[in-house]
Amino acid sequence: MILLGGFVLSAHSGWVFPRFATLITAGPFILGGVIGVVALWFRAPRIILACALVVLTQMILTHFTPLPARAENLGAGVIYPALTIIFPAAMIIFSTQARGRIFTVGALWRGALVTGALGVAIGIEIEIGDTAGLPIKNVEALLNAKFLPPFFDAWTVLPQPALVAFALAGAWLCVRAAMNRHVAEAAMGIALIAAVGAFHQVGHPPREDILWSSALAILGIGLIQDSHAMAFIDELTGLAGRRALTMDMNAMGGRYAAAMLDVDHFKKFNDTYGHDTGDQVLKMVASKMAAVGGGGRAYRYGGEEFTVLFPASRAADARRHLEAVRTAIAETPFRIRAQNRPKKKPGATTKQKKKKSADRNVTVSISIGLAHRGGGAQTPQDVLKRADTALYRAKKTGRNRLCV
Ligand code: GH3
Ligand code: MG
Ligand code: MG
Repeated sequence: MILLGGFVLSAHSGWVFPRFATLITAGPFILGGVIGVVALWFRAPRIILACALVVLTQMILTHFTPLPARAENLGAGVIYPALTIIFPAAMIIFSTQARGRIFTVGALWRGALVTGALGVAIGIEIEIGDTAGLPIKNVEALLNAKFLPPFFDAWTVLPQPALVAFALAGAWLCVRAAMNRHVAEAAMGIALIAAVGAFHQVGHPPREDILWSSALAILGIGLIQDSHAMAFIDELTGLAGRRALTMDMNAMGGRYAAAMLDVDHFKKFNDTYGHDTGDQVLKMVASKMAAVGGGGRAYRYGGEEFTVLFPASRAADARRHLEAVRTAIAETPFRIRAQNRPKKKPGATTKQKKKKSADRNVTVSISIGLAHRGGGAQTPQDVLKRADTALYRAKKTGRNRLCV
């Protein structure tokens, strides 16, 4: 929505600009500063780097591409085509900087590398003047090379290599965002689209500034959503975490249903196949729980224990849907890869050690305790305690079953 808003506003900059001139001109600096500081606080180095990149790019473009008729002069000079390559390349480099401490070697060399590239581009631009030597001409020709059919770039002043670079960076960030489930990376990918718009609008300061501001706002939203996920989503399984469970239960009323789910003999599983394989089992189990029907929502309560909540309107069917989850898990063979096993297994028998080189399938099961709110169980704690008691009974009476 911010992306769309940015494009709509920039298209109507003739109406917006005279009314909010100062705000629009200062926009990238205000947003870059605010989001940069928040990112520093939230320990999100790649958002800081991306914000700095946007602000720097905007400043360099404003400084080096003289107004008013700079769009026509774009063939001359390297700074514009160079920036259109450095920008997406830098986003790729920044995306790989993991969240954590800010002043790490990784964050510093990434920042230094991109600053260096910008410095070289500026240096070449200053040196060019009217007496550009042959090597510079070659760089210029390279950056503006045309190797694709004209329809590819007929719509824009962005050179073809830049469009390729943006497409690659976009694809890279999409894949990473999908694989890592990090909203920050998705935000960087969406910010790239705003950046293409801003580069395309070079020579029209209000439009450029509006689009740079929307790129920054998108990064800011990404930072907020990523931080929200850190607080409420369990990292290993991707399910909502304990904090989310507490808040959701407090908000529920009526005769809602809560189930406690626990993996059977999980400790033995861990001891036999190793903690990493145990983690894989938790992921598999969690993915089945996430798919629970009937309006149920799954949470990781902690360790190998999970909770599923059904709102009062759907609580009557809870049992059926939980049974479906239990069966689905019991019927899904879990493949143990030979190399996943620890070299030295404390609890392993000789027989297991002999089988070390072969993959094999094992089955995983869960037990479930289900309870409804009402009667003596009014508070979330009461309801969960009841579900826990039912779970204990399910364990006692043979596991891989549901008790109410
Ligand atoms: P039961 O059928 O009675 O539930 O037996 P159990 O072995 O599953 O019971 P218990 O609750 O004692 O075992 C829980 C084990 O789960 C202990 C701990 O080593 C393991 N565990 C807890 N959290 C994690 C985790 O995040 N990853 C892995 N791999 N293991 C975990
Ligand atoms: Mg347990
Ligand atoms: Mg268990």
